[in-house]
Amino acid sequence: MPISHDSLPPKYEKLQELKSLGDLPSPKGAALAVMRLTRKEDVSISELAHVVQTDPALVGRLIKAANSTQAGAHRPVAAVQDALLLLGVPTVRYLALSFSLLSGYRAGQCASFDYRRFWSYSLACAVATQALAGQIRAAPPDEAFSVGLLSRIGELALATVYPEDYARLLGQLAVDRAASLAALEQATFAMTHTELSAAMLHDWGLPRMFVDPVYSHETPEQANFPPESRQYKMTWTLTLARLIADICLAAESERRAMMSKLFLLGGKLSLESETLTALCDRVVSGWQDWAQQLNVDSNIVPPFDELSKPPSAPELSQAGMPSATHDSEGAMRVLVVDDDNSMRTLLKALLTHSGYEVHEATNGQQGFEKALEVRPQIMVTDWMMPEMDGVELTRALRQTKVGRSIYILILTALEAEDKLIEAFDAGVDDFMSKPLKSRVLGARLRAGQRVVMLQNEIERDREEIRRFAAELAVTNRRLQEAALTDVLTGFPNRRYAIERFQQEWLASNRSNRPLSCMVVDIDHFKTINDTHGHDIGDLVLKETAQAIKSGLRAQDVVCRTGGDEFLVICPETDIVAAKVCGERVHRAVANMRLMAGTLKLTGSVSVGYATRDAGTKDIDALIKRADEGVYLAKQQGRNCIACVPDVPAKSG
Ligand code: GH3
Ligand code: MG
Repeated sequence: MPISHDSLPPKYEKLQELKSLGDLPSPKGAALAVMRLTRKEDVSISELAHVVQTDPALVGRLIKAANSTQAGAHRPVAAVQDALLLLGVPTVRYLALSFSLLSGYRAGQCASFDYRRFWSYSLACAVATQALAGQIRAAPPDEAFSVGLLSRIGELALATVYPEDYARLLGQLAVDRAASLAALEQATFAMTHTELSAAMLHDWGLPRMFVDPVYSHETPEQANFPPESRQYKMTWTLTLARLIADICLAAESERRAMMSKLFLLGGKLSLESETLTALCDRVVSGWQDWAQQLNVDSNIVPPFDELSKPPSAPELSQAGMPSATHDSEGAMRVLVVDDDNSMRTLLKALLTHSGYEVHEATNGQQGFEKALEVRPQIMVTDWMMPEMDGVELTRALRQTKVGRSIYILILTALEAEDKLIEAFDAGVDDFMSKPLKSRVLGARLRAGQRVVMLQNEIERDREEIRRFAAELAVTNRRLQEAALTDVLTGFPNRRYAIERFQQEWLASNRSNRPLSCMVVDIDHFKTINDTHGHDIGDLVLKETAQAIKSGLRAQDVVCRTGGDEFLVICPETDIVAAKVCGERVHRAVANMRLMAGTLKLTGSVSVGYATRDAGTKDIDALIKRADEGVYLAKQQGRNCIACVPDVPAKSG
């Protein structure tokens, strides 16, 4: 049952009781100061930086967080102020909390609680939640990271507050695999770890869009959030993230069996299998990275695509090797080629008796045609025959695609070495002297079968590789597109913008033509989100993107480079044309009318533009100048366009 929106999470009072005992996991030191400071509405970044800087480990971790996430698509940050700006106050608050708990509760009194595994698992879950939330846009990824990390915090809390009782309960669970942890907790403490997790997150000030999913994610089917709601997406995100963490920490032999559940859960979030396996691989490397930084355990996990394939051919054939005279298509076909009637009849009887499907030909020429027709796996041929002898027949067959894979056994009365070498050179696989001995024939055919089976296996493997290669090509193409596209607006993203801008820069070097750019930032977008919710925020983003595009010329390229920020590249555009273009974009957005239900909104952006001049070092410098233009426009009251004056060298 989801928590109702206007009530406190269940067991919130019980949490207050536990708090009064004083043993509950809680943030310490700089993190505690960050938590206190950020309860204020109007905390400034410099105040926050001041507090964060008292803890060098926290500084390092926040900088890593800023660089390792979506926000890190910006140029890498090294200064704490920049990291704080990029992450935003709520994310800094949650990260400080998470890291502090991780550092402070690496070990404890509960004998059966595996603290190392708990953090290793929680970290995998954090990275998975972050990746999934980003992929399906369930929540801001950096905030989702903390939610993933703290999604099982109630277990740690119970182990901390009641070390002996919880150890006993975990012991019980180890013996009785059918028992449920939640039921045992309920019986012992009159509350479950999910209730406690949710209550703690609420107490630390996390919003309901996170608290509710933490409460519901272990029994997601019982939560009845509407499928389009953020709570629904976040609940299944957490459920799936937990499964990914399960797979990461599982024994090698157990992982493959967990894959079908992974794809099933992925389906809940409309994730295609290739997208999901690629995401999981990224999660594994992100997990290993963070684990090193935080001194937490992690594992080596094979690529998820490999885990999702059926077991390899040798494992399969051990499981159910086809019977001696059968391959996967049924009975093996043998072609007998002999001009001697009685010999053919004898061979046919022997082979049929052994379970082969036998075909006959009375001379080399007929043998050749029959072989192409029935595609035998094995051919037994006499050597001396009129017109086309056995060696000529072999030579001819080896020139054809079908004939290349037939196992050829030649019967001969001649055993002269030179003759035999000639036969092998022509392509026979084995020979047998006449008169025929049936036991020897049987043994030689068995040797032939082994070769045929191996060939079949190789062919199957090859076929599979071909199929995977084709699928991979499609996936790669999709990934390549996805890597350069912003999902929400469908516009190119920052990565594309930088690549494209570099190209335009070089083209302008060659042609000596002007080059301009604009940075466009939505005004008070945070307020739109806060007032009307993220879904309306997303709608405003999409509509604004379209309006910007409508104000541009065909040669201009617009990309979404940040949350509410766009970069427009204007090739062959001087400062005068850039200004005209900027004004057109500004007007197009200002004229935008957005209706959602009874809600009516207008658009508003601040535009900064800049043109390359002799003093502009590179595209970064040009973007920076346009950025400064945005800053100026914001200072001038927003909803306008601005350009910083030329660099001193030019303005002279
Ligand atoms: P200013 O006028 O100074 O630009 O104020 P602002 O509120 O627009 O400030 P800022 O540019 O810092 O805010 C950007 C906000 O955009 C913060 C972030 O929560 C939100 N955001 C980022 N990406 C998305 C998204 O994909 N969807 C939604 N709805 N909001 C997003
Ligand atoms: Mg803005």
